[in-house]
Amino acid sequence: MIWYPYAQMKTLAAPYKIIDAEGVYLYTEDRKLIDSVSSWWSVIHGYKNPEMNEAIESQMEKFAHVMLGGLTHQAALDLSDKLRTWLPGDLNYSFFSDSGSVGVEVALKMALQYYINRSQKERTMVLALEHAYHGDTFKAMEVGDDPDYHFVLEAYGKSRNVVHIPTEIDALEKAFRDYGERLNCFIVEPLLQGAGGMRMYDVSFLRRARELCDRYDVLLIFDEVATGFGRTGNRVVADLVLPDIIVLGKALTGGYVGHAVTVAGSKVYNAFYDDDPSFALMHGPTFMGNALACAAAKKSIELFERENYLSKIRRIEEMTRREMEGFSDSSVKEVRIMGGCVCIEVYDSERIRGYRQYAYERGVFSRPFLNFLYAMVPYIIDEEELVRVLSTMKEWFRR
Ligand SMILES: *Cc1c(COP(=O)(O)O)cnc(C)c1O
Repeated sequence: MIWYPYAQMKTLAAPYKIIDAEGVYLYTEDRKLIDSVSSWWSVIHGYKNPEMNEAIESQMEKFAHVMLGGLTHQAALDLSDKLRTWLPGDLNYSFFSDSGSVGVEVALKMALQYYINRSQKERTMVLALEHAYHGDTFKAMEVGDDPDYHFVLEAYGKSRNVVHIPTEIDALEKAFRDYGERLNCFIVEPLLQGAGGMRMYDVSFLRRARELCDRYDVLLIFDEVATGFGRTGNRVVADLVLPDIIVLGKALTGGYVGHAVTVAGSKVYNAFYDDDPSFALMHGPTFMGNALACAAAKKSIELFERENYLSKIRRIEEMTRREMEGFSDSSVKEVRIMGGCVCIEVYDSERIRGYRQYAYERGVFSRPFLNFLYAMVPYIIDEEELVRVLSTMKEWFRR
């Protein structure tokens, strides 16, 4: 039997069984649902996209997978080329892995070893944000700050190697003054903290972080597993402020195959590039560079560019602002909108209990968590469909 994610199996509400999916729609035996979650924010082109299907099928005719240890293949070479030209600055060196969490692990490993290779062994600390979410593996949990994972703190106590700060410039400056010489990196979900509650903050914080990282010689890591590929209204937030390492996942393959990539700039790459074998990055997920994933990712980026997704996302944001204008309820703490993300935060999580089923009955799939009722729709959604998602959210509060 299946052990489902983030669920108490004893009280689990039965998951909806999907028998088909196309465009923005999921089909159960008796219903057609708009996927307002894009399957954990990944299915940006919708389901059964003919060009995405074709890209995978034509790779499949050659082979589905070969390992990258001692072998290479055209789909991975093409994707790394695509990423090199598509990503800003000198983010040119792509290390593939099978999931966002692993991509984050790789980034953190790179940051630590970067200084070890330069004989700065005292730089063992990581600066991170309060409410951060970076994945469910152990180091990712340690740099994260999600109440769901605090059982680890109970077990091990607070980490000496991670400091969490709020997204405030004063706190940022203080952290660098206090720990600047001991940090190897500052890791952030830039502009939009997803699983920590769709929290949004200003780019000025990231600009200041870049300056301080330069001044204190600390690496800046953008975990863009969620924010990458348009979610904030930018292709990647790295277009606004250039990090030393970026991690991409979720929408990387258009939600077709689990894959992630940790892309480093020259400064990081060069610290590993040496005659000394111990300077090498010793990491290698079995399925890194999977050919089906690479073919999907390359096609996904091509579609993103060719179909001008940034303008689609701008439209989604405008329509969302229009629809949410004037919406208020005494139980609502805040409504936040950025790019292709809208979040209604309530004071009390009880207030949104039952929403999943309410939405289901109105033809929308939604998965609220804690105090957050949100939508992150596929970018191919049309106006009528988006309005349905948003009015379902609003009507819930008017019952
Ligand atoms: C989802 C997510 C991850 C983890 O990705 P997985 O593919 O689930 O391992 C890491 N960082 C952020 C910001 C995410 O949203």
